[in-house]
Amino acid sequence: MIDLRSDTLTLPSKEMLATIATAQLGDDGRTHDFGRGEDLTVNKLEDLAAQITGKEAGVLFPTGTMGNSAAVLAFCQPGDKVLVDEQQHMYLSEKVLFDKSFGQLEAIKYQHNEKGIPSLADIEKQLNENDIKLLCIENTHNFSGGACIPPEHMKAIYELAHQHHVPVFMDGARMFNAAVSMEVEPHKLCSYVDAVMFCISKGLGAPVGSLVCGSQDFILKVRSKRKMLGGSMRQAGIIAAPGIYALEHNVTRLKEDHENAKHAASLLTGLTNTHIIGAVDSNILVLDVNDLGLTPQEYCQKAQEHGLLIKPVLKDKIRLVFYKGITKEDATAAAKIICDLDRYNK
Ligand SMILES: *Cc1c(COP(=O)(O)O)cnc(C)c1O
Repeated sequence: MIDLRSDTLTLPSKEMLATIATAQLGDDGRTHDFGRGEDLTVNKLEDLAAQITGKEAGVLFPTGTMGNSAAVLAFCQPGDKVLVDEQQHMYLSEKVLFDKSFGQLEAIKYQHNEKGIPSLADIEKQLNENDIKLLCIENTHNFSGGACIPPEHMKAIYELAHQHHVPVFMDGARMFNAAVSMEVEPHKLCSYVDAVMFCISKGLGAPVGSLVCGSQDFILKVRSKRKMLGGSMRQAGIIAAPGIYALEHNVTRLKEDHENAKHAASLLTGLTNTHIIGAVDSNILVLDVNDLGLTPQEYCQKAQEHGLLIKPVLKDKIRLVFYKGITKEDATAAAKIICDLDRYNK
């Protein structure tokens, strides 16, 4: 079975797991200067994250959802209007920030083009028409098929937002995929946002964890939100050690995943009933299979019977994700299954 459901399926290597056994541990919840705890491995990972993103400080979270939530709550008050992409993960998937019983923020949506790139004109319109407190972007953009927002476009968004005195937050769950795909340094991308969240638990292959980076003052606020959300951990060095390993060893290899996604896409062009959505910029491929007359669930069931495990996304699309452990041969075989299903008659 070829499993392309998500890059969260990436398993830690032996070398990565070995880092846990020798990690220096302490109680990360016993805090000192700048709200930092006593787990030296956590501190090391947070410093590394800050350095890579070019920000003053970083803070470790168990999940990306909690990282996004604490970061956005540190920027906002209940009832505030937050500008999000119409298909932003925080809005469609996580929901917690906009839930009446939790975050109580109001989502104002901006559009993106067919390639998943935010519309500057629409962002400007929304900024003019609403009292926006925070602008959120997502890079790479998950639901549009792993679209990468180029640095010049991020800069334009940043400058526009700042003209309106609105800070910018990036959900960079797959920020390293964006950086590798566009051949830009992560700190360059992050120079156009006030704060960023990235996951070590996806394509980078660490078992658990996400980091939020930003200014020293901001991260102090984020730490207090993290504590309220129950995300302050103890000997979290056992999470941080594989995270450090991931950042040191698994970033450049993301290129292979992108090549495999592009390779699969190249084998799927010109099909009758199966259409690729957007450009394949990184490790995600989104398909529209509605012309086959099957529901996305029925389609995924058929694919599974042929040896390919995939999942529906949004209302009516299918997502394929390429990651460490998925080979070029797997990509070829997955594409063959999709080509065979393209000729499927109900
Ligand atoms: C996975 C993901 C998250 C959340 O990460 P979890 O660790 O699963 O909570 C946030 N944003 C995007 C775009 C993601 O793909």
